Amino acid sequence: MMKETKMILISMIFTLSITCINGYSQYSDSLVLDIKNFAKGGYSIFDKTMVDMSWQDIEKSISKNAIVLFPIAVIEEHGPHMNCGPDIYQIYLATKMIKWNLEKKGIETLIVPPVYWGIADIGKEFPGNFTIREETFKYLLHDIFISLKSWGVNNVVVFDGHGEPKHNEIIREAILNANTEINLLTYFCVDQNHVNKYQQTPFKDYIIPVNYKPSIKIDCKYDNHHADCHETGVMAGFYPEMVDTVLARKLEPTNFRDSIKYKSPRDITEDWYKNAKQITPLGYFGDPASFDANKSVFNFFQDYICDAEAIAKFFSK
Ligand SMILES: [Zn+2]
Repeated sequence: MMKETKMILISMIFTLSITCINGYSQYSDSLVLDIKNFAKGGYSIFDKTMVDMSWQDIEKSISKNAIVLFPIAVIEEHGPHMNCGPDIYQIYLATKMIKWNLEKKGIETLIVPPVYWGIADIGKEFPGNFTIREETFKYLLHDIFISLKSWGVNNVVVFDGHGEPKHNEIIREAILNANTEINLLTYFCVDQNHVNKYQQTPFKDYIIPVNYKPSIKIDCKYDNHHADCHETGVMAGFYPEMVDTVLARKLEPTNFRDSIKYKSPRDITEDWYKNAKQITPLGYFGDPASFDANKSVFNFFQDYICDAEAIAKFFSK
């Protein structure tokens, strides 16, 4: 197993030349095959994280001023065609890709064990959709930051794989507290086109601006929000055993645009936040049937390599 992983990594280093700067013009089937190798190295979401290292190796890495990547998401329902893990699998995978890219540049990197307990209230009526109280989440993150600080970690970058507003809000708050109360420099990546939004907020000093490249277009019908064509494509590409692709191709897209009840897409999502099980009884919101695994794999990789480029630039200052 170890040998195989090593071989894969070596082959990736030689064959992967894509960078954020080069963009998607290099899209090719063989490149997509190589990108998919990131999902290997074990079914475990602990592969390449601090969990699989000895304390001495972690200590050595921290002494080299490692940048610590912190993946956070939830376990929540993702329709009848996927398991409940896409959010945590994806964000964990993203940190593994970022680590690979940073280490290629000689930047020491560690990954915190992925935290998959968070706020997932929207789908909480669906079995398998765990959610925790705000306080629990706040204290959990706070205590993890305290552990990192106590071992001498200097810089943390947080990655959030779940889009629920309350969940995002608590993470932002925890990042702020890490910086102001624990004195641990903790950051998050923001699309440089949206950085202005934070200028008048206390978060302005903890942002890493990222110059994302345009994604390859995937033809998905109507509005796609959850367990949709994009998420289904990423999971089908990296973790094919976790997606029932035959079923996915048969799922009707959710279409609320023609409903007289809603005046704008915002109205639809607001209603969905309140009554997910009623509005989307099968648990997906979008058009899973239109997924394109290869394009999604490429878009996913490109986005997170842009994050890695931005992190490298940010910490080289
Ligand atoms: Zn998801």
